Amino acid sequence: MSFVFAPPPTVSIPVVGQQDRFPVHRIYCVGRNYEEHAREMGFTGREPPFFFMKPADAVVVADAGQTARVPYPTLTTNLHHEIELVVAIGKGGSNIQAADAHQHIYGYAVGLDMTRRDLQNDMKKQGRPWCIGKAFDHSAPIGPITPAAQVPGIAQAEISLQVNGQDRQHSHVSKLIWNITETIEQLSAAWTLQPGDLIFTGTPEGVAAVVRGDVLAGSVDGLQAIRVELI
Ligand code: MN
Repeated sequence: MSFVFAPPPTVSIPVVGQQDRFPVHRIYCVGRNYEEHAREMGFTGREPPFFFMKPADAVVVADAGQTARVPYPTLTTNLHHEIELVVAIGKGGSNIQAADAHQHIYGYAVGLDMTRRDLQNDMKKQGRPWCIGKAFDHSAPIGPITPAAQVPGIAQAEISLQVNGQDRQHSHVSKLIWNITETIEQLSAAWTLQPGDLIFTGTPEGVAAVVRGDVLAGSVDGLQAIRVELI
């Protein structure tokens, strides 16, 4: 087969402990999935989960031991960090039940759902899609994927983010409103999941603005930490 121009390269993420990389298909994100974060955004109570997407090529790989350089995006003066646990899907399916969801998980990684909050808020007010606030270039820094079998305690893990060495976000994955397997059940009712899909599971409280020159250090217990500098 030939193409009218070179097709884009496959976006991929390193896997801890092996040479083969994880090819990215789609990036799904869960909105407001920690109670304290929902509160800080002006919402209360358990609502059904809702989803948005980022393009696969929004990924910026934050390799182990390296500082990934992420350009400060255009059009915003209020770029927010959202530290998140990312679930990597290894086996596809639709209408997956929560009880079976573990069979579909390849592994986990630490990710940042970078957000142009000013643009997102404008879109919310106008009832328009969030794409410009959430799905911009370089909006999904992510660390190496750890295979699921190596992190049996992930559902209780600590999650945290420091900016320039100061604590900004700190919580536990156990505080997810919709946990990992419930999220897969809900998501797979709406879309057929495919191997290579990533799910950003939501951020805990403490989201705030970052500026050029800031260094973000994110971690989830048991996974490779990430380090990102905004340039
Ligand atoms: Mn988020």
